[in-house]
Amino acid sequence: MEEQVRYFLFMTAKRVIVIGAGFAGLAAATALADRGYRVTVLEKNETPGGRARVFNENGFRFDMGPSWYWMPDVFETYFARFGRKPSDYYDLLRLDPSYAVIFGPDEVLTLPAGVENLTALFEQLEPGSGPRFREFLDQAAYKYKVGIGNFVWKPSRRISEFLSLKLLADVARLDVLQSFHHHVRKFFKEEKILKLMEFPILFLGAVPENTPAMYSLMNYAEITMGTWYPMGGMHEIVKGMVALAEEKGVIFHFGEPVERIEVEAGTARRVRTTKGSYEADAVVAGADYHHVDDALLEPAYRNYSENYWDKRTLAPSSLLFYLGVNRRVDKLLHHNLFFDEDFRRHAHEIYTEPAWPERPLFYVSAPSKTDPSVAPEGCENLFLLIPVAPGLEETEGIREKYYNLIMDRLERHVGHEIRSHVILKRSYAHREFIADYHAYKGNAYGLANTLRQTALLKPSLKNRHVQNLYYTGQLTVPGPGVPPSLISGLVVAGEVEKEMGF
Ligand SMILES: Cc1cc2nc3c(=O)[nH]c(=O)nc-3n(C[C@H](O)[C@H](O)[C@H](O)COP(=O)(O)OP(=O)(O)OC[C@H]3O[C@@H](n4cnc5c(N)ncnc54)[C@H](O)[C@@H]3O)c2cc1C
Repeated sequence: MEEQVRYFLFMTAKRVIVIGAGFAGLAAATALADRGYRVTVLEKNETPGGRARVFNENGFRFDMGPSWYWMPDVFETYFARFGRKPSDYYDLLRLDPSYAVIFGPDEVLTLPAGVENLTALFEQLEPGSGPRFREFLDQAAYKYKVGIGNFVWKPSRRISEFLSLKLLADVARLDVLQSFHHHVRKFFKEEKILKLMEFPILFLGAVPENTPAMYSLMNYAEITMGTWYPMGGMHEIVKGMVALAEEKGVIFHFGEPVERIEVEAGTARRVRTTKGSYEADAVVAGADYHHVDDALLEPAYRNYSENYWDKRTLAPSSLLFYLGVNRRVDKLLHHNLFFDEDFRRHAHEIYTEPAWPERPLFYVSAPSKTDPSVAPEGCENLFLLIPVAPGLEETEGIREKYYNLIMDRLERHVGHEIRSHVILKRSYAHREFIADYHAYKGNAYGLANTLRQTALLKPSLKNRHVQNLYYTGQLTVPGPGVPPSLISGLVVAGEVEKEMGF
């Protein structure tokens, strides 16, 4: 009898179609299924995870996108919402040292985990900076508490969400109107410390001059909560989320790109894919926002014009190389940042005058330093990333030029040849981001978190012309990155429930 009642309730529940099985789509789908909706996820690619997919070849397993696991509390909050823990799905390891920064030949800093150790390092670099570092962190702790505990959970659809005296007082202390660049220079003078403190800001997709000082919360997250790694790779998070979604009854269709959201009199009625048509009471679009507006909707139902999108500041795209190397590579840690060139110049070539960078900074991840399962024995798994402007023209010749340019610097750093040991090589840039994810201008991680693109000023998570169409993911609130995408999915699920009922 109980079984029948449950079946009846399920069959009469409202149907939600979620477009895209990235972090945001998975989070929205799971939260809605948990509340009793009938949820179907339609994903273009054959596997889930979106930007966080994985590929296996010749004994190597490559995470294709994210590699930094920060803000473990957000993942805990996510799984706790469903009575689970991250450890029910994957094992986390805290990295210590957290990462290495290469400032030049023989100028390498390894960042120890933990505030005490880092304070000692800062004192060495800039005598007397220890107490200021503590003060910086105290302020950042407050920003984290209010920012991640409160602000990022706001749908940011109405100004009234922010109109409480308490919140207004918070806004003042959050330093929303001051730039991070200015803020951090009140505490430190030493160039290396400044670079270390500005590095986490790059995750937000903008330069420190254009990023509100509020985002020192990123320093707090990195320094006090640590850099973690899910054994097996970042895709383990995706596997855990899919398993949880399925437990909640979410149905997945992979390899099924959506071609149209069919709207009748301002209501999305059906979602049409390459393989079929699905009735919907509500639609949550987790695919790239611009693609949904531009390719899946009739012009009359688009939320924003082409001109609007063209004026947004996108987070960078990336030129990536996935390398399988048939020897161990010396000197590298799990995470390695090559800050051995002028950051301002590279940033200028990303944001101000978009062009292929003359002398790029780059990042190397070697997860095989931590995890033997991602490469055959005696081999190394390398992931190389150069941040570049979205929308650039690119060719095989350009990719190869950059490969050699950064491999020269990498080999100089490690002190031995790598190129002659590469047994697997794949590159990935704008055209793959577009082909794989319909990424606007080939963006890698969405919209930058500049002051003019924060909260209410972000593309809205609700369509103005279609009363049951919502957006989620890194191009809407709260912004780019894995933790924000998870939050985005949960926030949009809350809005669907509030507005659509059961
Ligand atoms: C190279 C790289 C490195 C990164 N590093 C980090 C990091 O270290 N730490 C971190 O926290 N974040 C990192 N990020 C950012 C993070 O990965 C993203 O912000 C996050 O994964 C975005 O999730 P999403 O759900 O918004 O979008 P996506 O992952 O893009 O998901 C959208 C999904 O929609 C699907 N889709 C598109 N069009 C259609 C259609 N028509 N029909 C059906 N499905 C469709 C796509 O295939 C995709 O699966 C990185 C990103 C990249 C690219």
